[in-house]
Amino acid sequence: MTPLLVDIGLNLAHDSFDHDRDTVVADALEAGVRHMVLTGSTLESTRAAISLVRGAPGRFRATAGIHPHHARDFHDDEVPVLRELMQAPEVAAAGECGLDWFRNFSPHADQERAFRQQLELAAEVGKPAFLHQRDAHDAFVAILRDYRPRLVGGVAHCFTGNEPELRDYLDLGLSIGITGWICDERRGHHLRELVRLIPADRLMLETDAPYLLPRDLHPKPRSRRNEPKYLPHVLATVAACRDEPPEVVAEATTRNALSFFGFDK
Ligand SMILES: [Zn+2]
Repeated sequence: MTPLLVDIGLNLAHDSFDHDRDTVVADALEAGVRHMVLTGSTLESTRAAISLVRGAPGRFRATAGIHPHHARDFHDDEVPVLRELMQAPEVAAAGECGLDWFRNFSPHADQERAFRQQLELAAEVGKPAFLHQRDAHDAFVAILRDYRPRLVGGVAHCFTGNEPELRDYLDLGLSIGITGWICDERRGHHLRELVRLIPADRLMLETDAPYLLPRDLHPKPRSRRNEPKYLPHVLATVAACRDEPPEVVAEATTRNALSFFGFDK
């Protein structure tokens, strides 16, 4: 029997899904991915995610936020707009928000401002934060520490860091999202050890589709587009690394995700 899973990070509003979104969702359900959290990364994609949730509220929840790549385009007068989106009943978390100093698509000052604004909103509306961090750990943790006492929770989405970073996140009470990055022999090898250190009640799974197609997937789709139907592949890798049966990891990660993102059980 396929274990029931929750994909906590799926960019379903992405235009690469425009021509076959219903099939992508049907294939995911067929693969046991019963619930999906649709990532908002701009005001526009947040609105699109919310409208997808309205089409299937039991199946989907959304996040509302500004990805650090887009921080330069997020202005102070849009904070009330984002607050209203975060308050929508379809929205389960604030984000994705954080810092990305790997790509640096937005200046650091804009990224830090937008991150603080979103953590402030998360605290105000009482929803957990969906967090993104790359190559900016120290600055990220320093900002997060300021807001942590007022936040109901947070998940470090697509964790790709090292052991001290993982320990900082766990000390901050964060949950950890693992993607198909762990399936990448070159970049993700260190995660195979680290994933064993994540307590079962803090672990969640995600595809980050259409990005991050697992590198060891065979056969690979010609499009190279990642899809939520590949989440069981991430599950299998995580379970093997933890020396646990996939059903055990599925049960724990599903329970964590349903509760964190407030799905009706
Ligand atoms: Zn991300």
